[in-house]
Amino acid sequence: MGRRKSKRKAPPKQKNIQPLAQVFDCPFCNHKQACEVLMDKIKLIGRIKCNICQELFQTSVNFLSEPIDVFNDWIDACEEQN
Ligand SMILES: [Zn+2]
Repeated sequence: MGRRKSKRKAPPKQKNIQPLAQVFDCPFCNHKQACEVLMDKIKLIGRIKCNICQELFQTSVNFLSEPIDVFNDWIDACEEQN
């Protein structure tokens, strides 16, 4: 007797530590998800590079910067050039 609820133990989920790289659409060749951001939080430099047209951009970052900030900086710099 006695109803037993089968409690399923959820397997311990390993937190996926995301590498500090993210991809964005390229403003030059318009390829989707072609630009990879690499954050160097030791040198406080953020780099973004398009894997299709090889465009490269580098900007200074701080500890709070996200890859999207590097990307936005790139877009700003592009607009300034035009
Ligand atoms: Zn590109």
